[in-house]
Amino acid sequence: MPPVNAPYRPEGLIARPLHARIDAGAVSHNLARLRATLPAGPGAPRLWATVKADAYGHGVARILPALRGADGLAVLHLNEARACRRIGWNGPILVYGGLYSPADALLLDSLDLHLVITHAAQLEWLAHAPLAERPALWLRYAGDIHHTGFSADDYRPAFEAACALARRGLAGEIGHLNHYARADESDGVDAADAAFRAVIAGLPGPVSTSNSAALLRHGARAAGTQWVRPGLALYGASPFADLSAAQLDLRPAMSLHSQIVGIQRVQAGAGVGYSGAFMAPAATTVGIVTCGYADGYPRHAPTGTPVIVDGVRTRLLGRVSMDMMAVDLGPVPHACIGAPVTLWGASGLAVEDVAASAGTIAAELLTGLSARVPVQLAGRDAGP
Ligand SMILES: *Cc1c(COP(=O)(O)O)cnc(C)c1O
Repeated sequence: MPPVNAPYRPEGLIARPLHARIDAGAVSHNLARLRATLPAGPGAPRLWATVKADAYGHGVARILPALRGADGLAVLHLNEARACRRIGWNGPILVYGGLYSPADALLLDSLDLHLVITHAAQLEWLAHAPLAERPALWLRYAGDIHHTGFSADDYRPAFEAACALARRGLAGEIGHLNHYARADESDGVDAADAAFRAVIAGLPGPVSTSNSAALLRHGARAAGTQWVRPGLALYGASPFADLSAAQLDLRPAMSLHSQIVGIQRVQAGAGVGYSGAFMAPAATTVGIVTCGYADGYPRHAPTGTPVIVDGVRTRLLGRVSMDMMAVDLGPVPHACIGAPVTLWGASGLAVEDVAASAGTIAAELLTGLSARVPVQLAGRDAGP
């Protein structure tokens, strides 16, 4: 396995103060926390750690050691499965996107690949592909989310076709997969699970349901399956509007840090930022933070979005620009150039709070961290 603390920020390079910090220890904690929601012992559901979108922006290579306790990894595309093999993951890998074209079948070149099958043509492609390895198949039910997958009417014919492939030695075990549209709601899965169970009634094979929200809010249903598939909660974000990550005992795995790089004293009536989106009602001390939308900070975050400067919670002012943003130094009058700024991921400032203020969700901010932001691994690289 290549070193996981590869030099993302080469030694000796003078870096811009903006950086993300990734805490693999938080991921191991969250994984253990999610496991604890499931019954233990033989027959306990196994856990796919969802690492699509490069582990929700955290970098799968950086956190792989923390995922050793997972039973499998779940990715979107077979190319990502190959990347997981390259960094040393030898366990099962579930591919949510299945095959996008017949050529994708050429990527079925390692053991223990599990393909989610979402339409009948994928089974045709497998039937005609020169397969190096035979994948396990998971038929996806369209469920109440209606993104991809088979309708109730098409499910059993698809199961028959998949079994025919297995009989010809072209596929391994055939499982059943459902993904809920409303798992964050307290009554969000009852009808969806009943419909899914009716469709697969009497069919052999393992069952997989339950993303983070389902696992944390509907644990009893998750416990009745063979595999669960959390993503977001592994990275320490809450999937619920009414329960914080701290309340759920989840630890944020990513934090985003910067510094004050400018200070402006503006008079009452003066504008700050493009279009004067913030007009100072009174004389105001404004701090300029080097972090903008080109770094992945949401441009839609309005005045009032929380920011921590030198340990004090304050607020964003005006419009976020490409490389910088303005913050209110009123509550932090001592802050000077170089004062530390936390944009998200510290205690008291969850990425969920910033996302809510910007009208989006934590997963969009985590996966949207831009490639130009250097990354440090917590406990491995004592940087700025
Ligand atoms: C992304 C994804 C998950 C993980 O969802 P979270 O809400 O991040 O826990 C599980 N199953 C499927 C099919 C997915 O696409």
